[in-house]
Amino acid sequence: MMKVSVIGAGTMGAGIAQIAATNGHEVCLYDSFDGATETAERKLKKILNRLVEKERITQQENEAILARINFTKEIKKVAGSGLVIEAIIENLDIKQKIFAEIESLVDEDCIIASNTSSLSIASIAAACKKAERVVGIHFFNPAPLMPLVEIIPAVQTSGDTLNKAKSIIDDWGKVTVIAKDTPGFIVNRVARPFYGEAIRIYEEGVADFATIDWVMRELGGFRMGPFELMDYIGNDINYTVTETVFASFYFDPRYKPSFTQKRMMEAGYLGRKSGRGYYNYSNENTPKVNEDKELGKIILWRVIAMLINEAADALFLNIATKEDIDLAMTKGVNYPKGLLAWADEIGIKNVLSQLEDLQAEYGEDRYRPSPLLKRMAKENKTFY
Ligand code: NAD
Repeated sequence: MMKVSVIGAGTMGAGIAQIAATNGHEVCLYDSFDGATETAERKLKKILNRLVEKERITQQENEAILARINFTKEIKKVAGSGLVIEAIIENLDIKQKIFAEIESLVDEDCIIASNTSSLSIASIAAACKKAERVVGIHFFNPAPLMPLVEIIPAVQTSGDTLNKAKSIIDDWGKVTVIAKDTPGFIVNRVARPFYGEAIRIYEEGVADFATIDWVMRELGGFRMGPFELMDYIGNDINYTVTETVFASFYFDPRYKPSFTQKRMMEAGYLGRKSGRGYYNYSNENTPKVNEDKELGKIILWRVIAMLINEAADALFLNIATKEDIDLAMTKGVNYPKGLLAWADEIGIKNVLSQLEDLQAEYGEDRYRPSPLLKRMAKENKTFY
């Protein structure tokens, strides 16, 4: 069986190594920082022991998985790999250097992939002599649990590399979608309004955090409300993604970050990890919620219309197929329904008029409807 190497033994790298080893590959998990591989090994042992306790794997499987992983500080150990997945720090210069180094150590037919969330695969691939072997393989956190993986071919990527990468990840039992090499790929692009519009509604004084979260959970069917989710992800990480996507889209107002979240980050109110974010986690009292259904509907449909607009525009610009856009949101971030299927249910004309009302009222480009929705409404079409 093909040898797999993972570069960077942090949150994502350790999870990816666990998946590859669980699927029977000999794995080399490399990290250059002192203590990084030791920490990864300690955490992985804990996770695997818990899986044994829960009877998801046997003790024998636990030992076999660990035995397949070679934790190392020597990068030359990647030699002989059929697939290398890089998951180091999100910095283009550093990634390019390591891609060039990996290429000098592996065979001609080895695929070299990046797990980057925000850099272009084209720019990373440009560091390699054989750029057609480079592809984006974007896992979600926690990698062993989240089913979705976005596969991102760069302009340089060969069809053969794309097909092989997709089929390896499919064989690992993941749900793969193919996304164009554009900022945020599918999930991190389409999900922006879930946070952005919720914050905007709060900033206008329409409702407080707890009420908006309640609406999205109870009336919308989302597993977590936007503010709980931002606190879970970390306001520093979520804000940085928003800012990066905004800048990458040449400051399209649709993706504009908010001062509310920026102040949270600046204050160190990062969310669960710092004990305080939108919510105070040392306070046992459950925040009061305004359960007014009419208000709830206004909030819900405003956020949903913005999400559908983003999904429709991603389809309009050929970022992915309609099926993959819907799969990405249900399998990558647990949305209760695919957004395009949801649009059919609500009615494209209703979604469009909601967006047009918002745009007319605010006069902001943030609310401009996708040309695809306009076209479909005119022709009475549905997505499915
Ligand atoms: P992390 O900080 O947990 O881990 C990064 C690891 O890389 C660290 O162990 C560090 O020691 C190591 N490292 C840094 N520079 C290195 C170098 N030059 N050589 C070798 N090792 C090096 O980060 P993470 O959250 O696992 O993110 C890694 C990558 O995955 C990033 O590109 C990020 O954008 C992407 N990603 C992260 C998430 C997430 O939710 N955390 C989700 C999807 C993708």
